[in-house]
Parts: sequence; C-alpha cells; structure tokens
Amino acid sequence: MKSRNKKIESYFTKPGVEVGNIGLSKEDIKTSFLEKLFYSLGRIPVVATPNDLYTSLALAVRDRVFRKYVKSLEQYAEEDARGVAYLSAEYLPGPHLGNNLLNLEIMEETREALAELNLDLEELLKEEVEPGLGNGGLGRLASCYMDSLATLGIPSIAYGIRYEFGIFKQEIKEGWQVESTDKWLHNGNPWEVIRPEISFEVKFGGYTEHTRDENDKLHIEWIPGSEVKGTAYDTPILGYQSNGIILRLWKAEATESFDFAAYNLGDYYRAVEKKMRSENITKVLYPNDENLSGKELRLKQQYFFVCCSLQDIIRLHLLQGRKLESLHEKFTIQLNDTHPSIAVPELMRLLVDVYHMEWDAAWMVTCKTFAYTNHTLLPEALERWPVSLIRNLLPRHLEIIYEINSRFINELRGHNFTGDQISRMSLVDESGEPTIRMAHLATVGSYMINGVSALHSGLLKKQVLKDFAELWPNKFTNVTNGVTHRRFLAVSNPGLSALLSEKIGKDWLTHLDKLKGLESYSEDETFRRKWMEVKLENKRNLATQIKELTGIDINPEMLIDVQVKRIHEYKRQHLKVLHILSLYLRVKKEKDTSIPPTAFVFGGKAAPGYFMAKRIIKLITAVGELINNDPEVNKILKVVFLPNFSVKLAQHVYPGADLSEQISMAGKEASGTGNMKFALNGALTIGTLDGANVEIREEVGEENFFLFGLTTDEVENKKAQGYHPYKIYAENENLKKVMEFLLSDELTRGDTELFKPIYNNLLHQDPYLLMEDYQSYIEQMENVYHVWQDREKWAKMSILNVARMGKFSSDRSIQDYCEKIWKVEAIKV
Ligand SMILES: *Cc1c(COP(=O)(O)O)cnc(C)c1O
Repeated sequence: MKSRNKKIESYFTKPGVEVGNIGLSKEDIKTSFLEKLFYSLGRIPVVATPNDLYTSLALAVRDRVFRKYVKSLEQYAEEDARGVAYLSAEYLPGPHLGNNLLNLEIMEETREALAELNLDLEELLKEEVEPGLGNGGLGRLASCYMDSLATLGIPSIAYGIRYEFGIFKQEIKEGWQVESTDKWLHNGNPWEVIRPEISFEVKFGGYTEHTRDENDKLHIEWIPGSEVKGTAYDTPILGYQSNGIILRLWKAEATESFDFAAYNLGDYYRAVEKKMRSENITKVLYPNDENLSGKELRLKQQYFFVCCSLQDIIRLHLLQGRKLESLHEKFTIQLNDTHPSIAVPELMRLLVDVYHMEWDAAWMVTCKTFAYTNHTLLPEALERWPVSLIRNLLPRHLEIIYEINSRFINELRGHNFTGDQISRMSLVDESGEPTIRMAHLATVGSYMINGVSALHSGLLKKQVLKDFAELWPNKFTNVTNGVTHRRFLAVSNPGLSALLSEKIGKDWLTHLDKLKGLESYSEDETFRRKWMEVKLENKRNLATQIKELTGIDINPEMLIDVQVKRIHEYKRQHLKVLHILSLYLRVKKEKDTSIPPTAFVFGGKAAPGYFMAKRIIKLITAVGELINNDPEVNKILKVVFLPNFSVKLAQHVYPGADLSEQISMAGKEASGTGNMKFALNGALTIGTLDGANVEIREEVGEENFFLFGLTTDEVENKKAQGYHPYKIYAENENLKKVMEFLLSDELTRGDTELFKPIYNNLLHQDPYLLMEDYQSYIEQMENVYHVWQDREKWAKMSILNVARMGKFSSDRSIQDYCEKIWKVEAIKV
C-alpha cells in the first residue's frame, strides 16, 4: 500500500509535470471542457443542451479542484495535525461553479476559452441548480465557514445530510406562497463523488440487554428493531489560492442483510418497502427555520447523520494507529446548534458499549471533544424531544442520557445548588410530558459553548443558560458570525471588486481588514462618482432580475430598500409594511409628492405550517398589487416580493441594495448575517440594536448607521411593566390610520377577514412590539430620506461602511474559533 502510494505520488510530483490535463491556461481549460463534453457526456456541441455544457465545464473544474484537495490530504497525513469535524444538519453552499473559478483564479481564462467556442460563461453559470440543503442563516453560516476553513488551511471535515429534496421551491400564486419540491438532483450533480466503501450501519428502536460477565462487569447490548446504512457523498470545497476540504453528506439506504432476508423468502415487495422506508430518512429537509416540528423522522435524521459521522471520525482516528483515549487530542467536534447534540450520548455509547471503555474515561474524552454553538434565544426554538419518542427510537441513548443526568445532578448537589436550580438545569424537563432539553445535553457534554454575537453571547449567560454559566463561567465565550467576502463580494459583485482592487490592491481577498485603506477615498469626489456608477450598474442588474421574476418594472435610480430573509414575526417584515402604508396614505390621501422614489423589495420563505408568516407574505403582495397598479402612486413607490429567495438570488440582491432592513425586535436575532452581506456591498443599514447590528454599528460608526427602536433592556422592562399595544395605537393618529387601512376594502378587496389575524395580533398581543417601535422607525426612515437627498453624503457613508467591514469576514470568525475554542492550527501550504 505504502509503496504503491509512493509510486503514484512521484508520478504526480515530478518537477513541473502535472498528470492529465489540469492546467489553468485558457487552452488547457478549453481542451478539458471539450474532452468532458465528448468523453464524459458523449455529446457534440451541436446537440449539447445548456445543461450538458454546464456539466462539462463543472467536470473540468472539478478535476482541478480535486487535484488541490488531494494535495491537502497528503499534507494532513504528513503532519498528523489536530483537526476539526464540523457537524451541521444544514448547509446552504450556493452555486459551486463561479466560486471555484474564483478560487482557482481562472475566471477570465474560462470566460475567454468559452468565448472562443462561441459560448457565454454567464449563460453556463445560470444553469447550475444550487443545493438547498438548509433553511437560511444557519446553513449559510456553515457554508461560509467551509470556505474560510479551506482558505485558511485548517485541517477539517464537514458532515451533514444529503437530503434528496432540499428547502421547498417557493412560488407566489394570487399573492400567496405555494410550495413545491426542490428536485436539485434532477440534472445530476457533477460536484459530488459517491464513496460506496465509506458506509456505516445505523440502528433504531428495539431494546437493551444488560448482562454481567464472570467478573461481574456489566455489558449492555442494544438489540435494534431495524437498521439502515449511511453512505458518504463527498463534495470538495476549495479555498482561495489554497487547497480544499471535504463536505461529507450521508445518504440513507437499506442494509443488504434486510434486502436479502426478505428476498430469499420470496417476499419481494416487503424487501422493496423496507428499502423505501430506509431511504425516507434522508428524503427531505424539514422547512422550519427557528422552529421545531417534533417529528420522529426529524430525530431519525439527526441520529442517522451523527451516528455515521462519529463512526467515520473514529475510523479516521484508528486508521492513524491511535487509541480512542486520545480522540479529543486529535479531533474537536463542533455542534452547529443542538441539531447534532445526540452526538453526546452516541459517542458515550460507542466508547463504552462498543469499545469497552470505562464510563469515567469515556466521559472525560466526550466532554473534551465537543463544543457547542447556540444559535437562538427564541424559547420555542430551543430543541426538546419527548422522552417517550427517544425511548422508542433510541432506547440505549435514553439510558445514557439518564446516567449523564444523574451524575450531573450529583455534581450540582456537591456545589450546593438549590432544588429550584437543579430542576431548571436538569436534562429532563418533568413539568409536563417529560422531555429532554437538548441545549442542556449539549452544554453538559461540551468543553466550550459559544453564542454568535457579543449581545447574544451575553444574553445566553444572563438568560437561557444562566445557571450553567454560574457553574462553569470559563466554558462560555463569544464568536461573532462572519460571511465569506469571496462569494458575497468577489464573485457576486465583480464591479465593486474591480474598483476596490484598483485602489487598494487584491490583498482584501485574503485579509478583509485591508478594506480600511479605502477610508480616505470617501473624501475623493472622482472616486465617489465611480462608486455610485458601480452601484447603479448593480441596481440595473437587480432591476432586470426583478423584471424577469415578477414582471414588475423598477427604475434603477430609485432608492432600493431591501428586506430579504426568512419570513418570521420576530424579524418584523410587517413593520416594514406599516411604514410603506404610511407613505402610501401620504401620497394618495395627502397628495404628498415629496417622498423620494423608492422600491421596496422583499424576499424570503415562510415555514409551510406558519400561519402568520404566510399571511405576512399575502399582505406584502396585496400592498404591492395596490401600489404598483396605481398611476397616482407608482411613480413614487413600488413594492416587490421576489419569489424563492436562495443563495443564487441573494448574490444578485445584496449588491443592488441601497438600504438594508435589519429591524428585528432587540434581543431576538442571535446575530444575522444578511446585515453583513448588505453592508459589505455598500448598502446602508436601518436597524435595531440586535444581534451583530450592534457590532456593525460599532465598526462603521454610529453616524453611518440608521438606528431606531427599543434596546434589549428596554424591551424587557416594557414587557415586565405590562405592555399595552392598543394604547399606543389609540394615541397615534398616523398609526391608527395605517392599522385601519389593513382592514380596508381597497387593500382587502372586500375580504375583511384577510388581514384581521395580523391586525388583531398587533393590537392585542404584539409580542414583538411593532406598535412600540413604529414611531421611532418612521422617524428614522425620514432621516434616511433626508440623507438620500444628498447623494454625495450617502456615497461617503456607503464607502465608509464597506471600508470598516473587515471584522465580519468568516476568516476572522474561523480564526476566533481556532484560538478561543478549537486550539487548532493551519497547515502551511
Ligand atoms: C445570508 C442569508 C440568509 C440569512 O439572512 P438574515 O438576514 O441574517 O436572516 C438567509 N438566506 C440566504 C439565502 C442567505 O444568503
């Protein structure tokens, strides 16, 4: 084996010789592209479909990506380095092709190679269907982190689920969201490689058998009710000017043994049914963002991918001839939210039951291996699983969780915690139907816990995990989220990127804080003019997208005011609607024509079962219908709902925005990353002191940020004192008119019940304080308009925003994780 490796390696590493055609010149790319078309797809150009052409290019690029990945594997093996395993139930990578071209630095060569064949790179890029394997921010964050891990050369592997159907496709019909399945694999997937030999068995159900051997040692065996097999599908994620890492996604299949047993009995249908039932596990992503459906299949998905990933990590560890007692020295496993937190009892099960380690030794390894990132403060989004469900599906894990809990509670007693505190901290909530608190399980089983912005990490210690922070103050830290500026600036905003590189060089691609060098140019009038020209070009591009997707015409000179993100009451899309209605009433009823022309752009998916969120979409589209078709108003105002918001669409939207709406109620948005992507592309922000907005404002300067609304403390006080939204409504003439308009025939076309649920909720409960923050929001929007009238000032602020965004690169986040949590170092290339 070793000598065979050596022989192959020497084949690859002869000075100046690369095997096969993986050169990076225009001619090399052209040759590879045609070779893929002829020999991999068996097509000639005249009959090739756009998808054939895209696939050929993707395959040609993939060869070059894999060459780099193989190099990094060689280095890992040589250095025997400590590495990171990132566990996430969701990833939202976006299209791979453009990003890989940037990272290989062959964007222009490829464009020219194709042009010589009378093909347009842009047309081929459009063909790619993105893997929608996540709901929103959390999955996108995982993918930004992959990009930075690869670029920085951190030894790492990312694990997840290969959902056959990703996040649903959203269409708008008669103003309502309509969902359909996302068949992202329909045209094949040139980026992944199946690894049939990397597969593991996963058990479910059944019961446990406790026996004692001749030395009175307890042995516990789990006799499962069923088994499935997980097979690895690998996608290389390349770094910029760097090697790559692997995203390893598991697909569920039937185990051979089950197929055979039934088949031999002649029960063909039963065999097939088993196969289908097994494959169901990775069939579809649950479309709930910040919420939980409590479905058995969801827990099956979580356990399935955790079980495969841990077996794979142990395989890799043992492959190097190491002992399991040292697992935590060679691997750190990051839990992206509680979705993979069943990993804590699963690792205990593997170490104790399968590898026969003593409990205490196994527990020591386990709690030094895991680290946990919390992503939410919403109480309804804190994951819990009914004990009865876990008992049925994972009987051995329930025993292990109980054992962990009883030892933990003993420890608390030793620390003189009160009975109240102990029942609050217990892994088991027995106040109603007994449930397991997954955030507590993750916290107890991890060596570090982090929040995702300074504000959020503070609130975590003060509220959600307060008792734990008292017990283990040093286990808590903050890592503020970041985004990859390579995808969200270099790839998606080539105009601005070129202008930046022209002024400050290209170092910003690997060191985003180099953007600081831009600050002084904010005073340069010629530069400001170029800046605004680039923005206008991006707005034209966005207007074209809007026209294609909705048929609505937008004048690119208008202020483009954008709120794109999942639709959720805490994010307050309906607060934006109230503002738009206040402007509409001014134009329509008061004949006020002084409002600067504005296009309000919304986008985002609502969880299919989330009644209010779906109503909010209908409200936005109804306001759009009314305004866009009214010649008295539509020269001044336009309202657009962009269907099917995705990473691909996001890459057009962020560069074309003038104003970024980050208007969640303070204390609810853990970080936000959309806020960062907008500001990085030169949009100014109107926002509350929530999540990472706080730090963005700190960085860009308060004079360059439009702030409004209550602070987290003020929200808490307001709620503690008893909040009365109706009173605020009754005392604010303008707000009253806007609210009444929600029920008007003009808006509802006579269906008076249409927006009553929203109206009633705001007037009588208003859990997210829209009534309270309304006036402050309206006034800050007036200030936005005031600044917008002075385009020179706006441009200055825009330049300063971009220049000061260095902190929000995911490269900085990953460096923070490496230093504060993982203690992992980069491999030098
Ligand atoms: C960045 C991003 C998000 C997260 O947006 P927030 O404004 O932080 O909620 C969601 N979806 C997609 C496609 C994104 O690119």
